[in-house]
Amino acid sequence: RAVDPTPDLVAARLSEVKRIILVLSGKGGVGKSTVSSQLAFTLAASGASVGLLDVDITGPSIPRMLGLRGQTVHQSATGWSPVWLDEGLGVMSIGFMLPDEDDAVIWRGPRKNGLIRQFLTDVEWGALDYLIIDTPPGTSDEHISLAQYLKKAPVAGAVVVTTPQQVAMSDVRKELSFCRKTATPVLGVVENMSGFACPCCGTVTQIFAPAEGGGRGMAERAGVPFAGSIPLDPRLMAACESGEAFVEAHSATEAAQSLATVVRHI
Ligand code: ADP
Repeated sequence: RAVDPTPDLVAARLSEVKRIILVLSGKGGVGKSTVSSQLAFTLAASGASVGLLDVDITGPSIPRMLGLRGQTVHQSATGWSPVWLDEGLGVMSIGFMLPDEDDAVIWRGPRKNGLIRQFLTDVEWGALDYLIIDTPPGTSDEHISLAQYLKKAPVAGAVVVTTPQQVAMSDVRKELSFCRKTATPVLGVVENMSGFACPCCGTVTQIFAPAEGGGRGMAERAGVPFAGSIPLDPRLMAACESGEAFVEAHSATEAAQSLATVVRHI
């Protein structure tokens, strides 16, 4: 059988990228894109050059979270140019290529894999300190392709996002076993929507009893680092809606401090 040239093409294209970080979650709606986008903002604000690649074909929300809705990518003879928010933060998303955000949901596997392959081989990132990849929820064929395509690239590891209730669910454990099988180090488990931060006084109230010791318990059992808990905070939701860098704008909040802790794990 012919050897797939993709891993070599990807390694060549990403040769000036120092650390690739995958952001994973067992299910949709747990805050994976929120964590990806705020990590990108925070790293870029610290002076790093950052790329954010959104391959969440089930619902590309990255353009909105970066305030880049309606932007389009440009293709040149040498590849696709990301949309640069400023010179330290470039963004590439399937959302930039769809007339309607809902269009991608109906795509079938081979087309999704083809696009992921193209995103890894054709985007001109140049030199980056970090390339953050926002992946689809779960562990689908796309994840297996992604791991295969990236096997010669500098993948630093994965951030696994969960919620307190999701911890007991098998799909979060599947993320961790996916990381083990693909030899992807888990940089940290993040428990998101961990209690509710009152916007008036900042007090965090636990709403759901965390299952099985929550994200921390799960991380301990799996022998991987726990990177912190981010409470539900309406200001974080509002920041995501308006494409705002939350950690900078609301540095005193518990959510911002937790996000800053996550950054230290990657
Ligand atoms: P996923 O990428 O896992 O599907 P998103 O990041 O799109 O999830 O988050 C789903 C929704 O929940 C978004 O509207 C987002 O703004 C909101 N959200 C995520 N985390 C928080 C949080 N800690 N506090 C408030 N809203 C949040």
